[in-house]
Amino acid sequence: MTLAEAGARAVSLVAPVAGTQALPLSQADGRVLAQDVFAGLPLPPFANSAVDGYALRFDDLAPGAETRLPVLGRVAAGETAPSEFGRGALRIFTGAPLPPGADTVVMQEDVAREGDAILLPPGLRRGANLRPAGEDVARGARAFEAGRRLRPQDLGLLAALGLERVTLRRRPRVALFSTGDELTEPGGTLPPAAIYDANRPMLRALLARAGAEPVDLGILRDDRDGLAARLKEAARDCDLVITSGGVSVGEEDHVRAALATLGSLDFWQIAIKPGKPVAVGTIADTPFLGLPGNPVAAFVTFAFVARPMIARLAGTACDPLLRLPVRLGFSHRGKPGRREFLRVSVEPGADAVPLARRHPGEGAGSLASLTQSDGLVELAEDPALAEEGSIQPFLPYSALLG
Ligand code: AMP
Ligand code: MG
Repeated sequence: MTLAEAGARAVSLVAPVAGTQALPLSQADGRVLAQDVFAGLPLPPFANSAVDGYALRFDDLAPGAETRLPVLGRVAAGETAPSEFGRGALRIFTGAPLPPGADTVVMQEDVAREGDAILLPPGLRRGANLRPAGEDVARGARAFEAGRRLRPQDLGLLAALGLERVTLRRRPRVALFSTGDELTEPGGTLPPAAIYDANRPMLRALLARAGAEPVDLGILRDDRDGLAARLKEAARDCDLVITSGGVSVGEEDHVRAALATLGSLDFWQIAIKPGKPVAVGTIADTPFLGLPGNPVAAFVTFAFVARPMIARLAGTACDPLLRLPVRLGFSHRGKPGRREFLRVSVEPGADAVPLARRHPGEGAGSLASLTQSDGLVELAEDPALAEEGSIQPFLPYSALLG
């Protein structure tokens, strides 16, 4: 199965969660709007000056010559402009309302002040340096569509529209387990032949960044019946159950066996490296995703399979990932028919294209290689040879963490 097929099939297994809540903007970052948002007022709400300067009527200027105008008054941000003024200019500051009749603002740097008058050069433009009402957002316009995942700048716009709260979808609750007899919680002493559970803190953080509410359910031992009982319980309370480890084809890979006793199981061999084995299925009506145990494989499959599932559950679209061009500082021969993700660091190149250097740690278990690189170079199934100096697509980790 190709990675694209796997992502599409994973998404087809889930539907957006029901339930909404009205929350203050301070809790809305990264959350998904449940309703369209329409502008109840225009932005800006009134015509105002974009600079510190002088407001005037363009028709009071002498065409093609200098003009001397008396300064008749002053209006600062937050003050109300006089309702009328005669031939002349008003001192005005950024954000102050444009006085009725004024249609042009001249920057203070462009005039010479002479006592109570200003001297204006020729060549000014009608309508310069002001922001008309509704220029940014018209009254009644749709500012956001339902399903929008809110970013910090979106919160700025919502606040500018006077909104204190927004109606959001509930975050999907995602149960998270690690599996393996070798795993120990960080913090305790490390028994012989054990390793600390690295995947769970990583996946919990990835879940939160993907817009889910992680429900951390600890470590499961390699025992089919114990696994089955805990997975069944988790499926009752959560919208998605995710595990790592135990989905390969070894005798000690019990997640698949446990799933088979609980519901339907689909085992996918995705044609990628790292991250080939992924188990997908349902427990009662709850979707299940079994990620591989090797940390780099878990990270990669989370990015390409779990993330789009969570986006759909959360009621939003997973934007297609934008690959950036980089030049390979190495060559790499892959296996035909298999897509590969290589951990690389990027640096400025000889031309506008950044140069990608491969991290020496290649193993699917190398957490240090993930921490010491900037992102993944994605090498297509064909051709198998990616030559040094060729331009290839690059995914910065930041793109995979949204
Ligand atoms: P498995 O898929 O269970 O055979 O695991 C593959 C490899 O990943 C083994 O070396 C495991 O010890 C390792 N592994 C599995 N789960 C974790 C975890 N939660 N943290 C760190 N390493 C893990
Ligand atoms: Mg295992």
